[in-house]
Amino acid sequence: MTTAFTFQANPARVVFGDGTLATLPEEVARLGLSRALILATPAQEEDAQRTAALLGLRAAGVFAGATMHTPVDVTERAVAVAADLRADGVVAVGGGSTTGLAKAIALRTDLPQIVVPTTYAGSEMTPILGETRDGAEVTQSSPRVLPEVVIYDVALTLTLPPALSGTSGINAIAHAVEALYARDRNPVISLLALDGIARLARALPSIVDDPGDRTARADALQGAWLCGLCLGAVGMALHHKLCHTLGGGWGLPHAETHTAVLPHALAYNAPAVPEAMERLATVLGSDPARALYDLAGRVGAARGLGELGLPDDAVEAAATAALANPYWNPRPLERDAITRLLRDAQASTPPRPQESA
Ligand code: NAD
Repeated sequence: MTTAFTFQANPARVVFGDGTLATLPEEVARLGLSRALILATPAQEEDAQRTAALLGLRAAGVFAGATMHTPVDVTERAVAVAADLRADGVVAVGGGSTTGLAKAIALRTDLPQIVVPTTYAGSEMTPILGETRDGAEVTQSSPRVLPEVVIYDVALTLTLPPALSGTSGINAIAHAVEALYARDRNPVISLLALDGIARLARALPSIVDDPGDRTARADALQGAWLCGLCLGAVGMALHHKLCHTLGGGWGLPHAETHTAVLPHALAYNAPAVPEAMERLATVLGSDPARALYDLAGRVGAARGLGELGLPDDAVEAAATAALANPYWNPRPLERDAITRLLRDAQASTPPRPQESA
């Protein structure tokens, strides 16, 4: 069957390697920046200070106040700091939370961004920005938030704790899994998706066994980049919607929630996406949903939403919230089956094979 498709690449310059943070002064100069503001979370302030030292006079200062869910008041404080320091660009060193802050600043100021990702979340490759105001989340997509340069440095990922490495990596896999059955999927993104999944699935167990394994770390970081490209290029479906609902409504942690839900969301969609399942089987084995559940166990992750704090009696409400605004999914959204899916995900049981599409 010939399938029609549209493919559009997002512009970005990517520098990948081990020790590539050393290229930052060059990249900053290339963009013509002379006063970059370095962004980080409080936990990674030291990384930010080292980065500022590396830039010397081209660093305007450090703002180490990035936090989860990109609250608007934090962004407004960072924008004020950037203005006070007359910053002409931002450098984000950290995971999705820090990247989110850089994107939110760029949305308001058009300051150029260099992002140095230290987790596998993939936000740096997407035009998507989720922000919170008084706890309510608003997500938008705009090319204005795409970073100009992304520097992937394997060395900076060595400190990512094993538990977070596992869940962050499975969060990345989730982007690629849904890309394979996206309504607007295309052959280029599907190739990236498969390679990204294969790399992460083989690297994560090695990383958990030895967080300092640079070969596995490089494989995982490259896989995360590819999975991030998938997230930035095609639409997501049920899995991302469920995780978004659970994160926003019940405050469940981002990467861990993706890890617990993914096997069940994939099993739900499996009967409707035989081609995607066949392709996934080539990199995950004959039962991809079960393989993802096993991978979560292998990396020591919580495999249930209950373990993450979702009470039993929240399952019905979560199903209602996830179905409140209809969206595209390869398999129609069936309330009973989705409630069952959430119940299984809540209880940490393995994904159940689904019979009907
Ligand atoms: P995170 O950025 O919140 O990081 C978690 C913690 O780990 C932080 O304290 C951070 O400082 C620390 N950390 C990060 N890298 C480290 C390292 N190498 N060594 C030691 N500590 C390190 O977590 P995340 O999972 O990367 O990002 C989650 C956020 O990103 C969520 O808010 C999510 O919504 C967002 N996100 C957005 C997109 C998008 O396209 N807009 C995509 C994926 C994730």
